[in-house]
Amino acid sequence: MATLEPIAQPGKLIVFTGPSGVGKGTLLRRLLQLHPVLYLSISATTRQPRPHEIHGQHYYFVSRETFEQMIERSELLEWAEFAGNYYGTPRDPVVEAVEQGRWVILEIELAGARQIRDTFPLAQQIFVLPPSIEELETRIRRRAQDSESAIARRMARARVEIDAADEFDFQIVNDDLDQAISQLETALFVEMPAPAEM
Ligand code: 5GP
Repeated sequence: MATLEPIAQPGKLIVFTGPSGVGKGTLLRRLLQLHPVLYLSISATTRQPRPHEIHGQHYYFVSRETFEQMIERSELLEWAEFAGNYYGTPRDPVVEAVEQGRWVILEIELAGARQIRDTFPLAQQIFVLPPSIEELETRIRRRAQDSESAIARRMARARVEIDAADEFDFQIVNDDLDQAISQLETALFVEMPAPAEM
């Protein structure tokens, strides 16, 4: 599918949402390797880093105080509270990348996706679904990074998010990785071409 990638296009904003544990990270890593036009925004969060996570690469890990300052200074494009922590998208790098013609992906939860829909109606929105809710719980448990109470919070939130999947331009079921990638490529490069202007 790489041949479908446009050579020169205006930049655009792509929102990528789906319940925690659905495999958005794996899908995005593969997609970014295949398509250099894509740029993944790095979020700020007050969550503690997981063992493999690197500050400035996976997230900007900040204190609640710093995060609240970022909100006050309007430095975030959107933000939300999720499972007891703040998450938000730093505005400047995203705006810069879109201006450079990159296709900027925001990997964010539902409340943030709704904020972006209100402020950037031309942003394109993709929702990633698990094959089933049982499979989602299995994946979250396999990750073995969350306490029982965190798993319960994530599963409750997952049900709310899945119920909102219809609000999105495109839904992808992440069952077989290659198939999901190919559906994403179709969504990004065929079904949802870049808008004339953001
Ligand atoms: P995790 O703690 O598993 O890394 O992320 C929890 C949830 O927060 C995921 O659904 C992820 O998509 C979402 N998330 C990550 N960064 C942001 C962000 O900048 N804004 C919003 N609204 N959600 C985010």
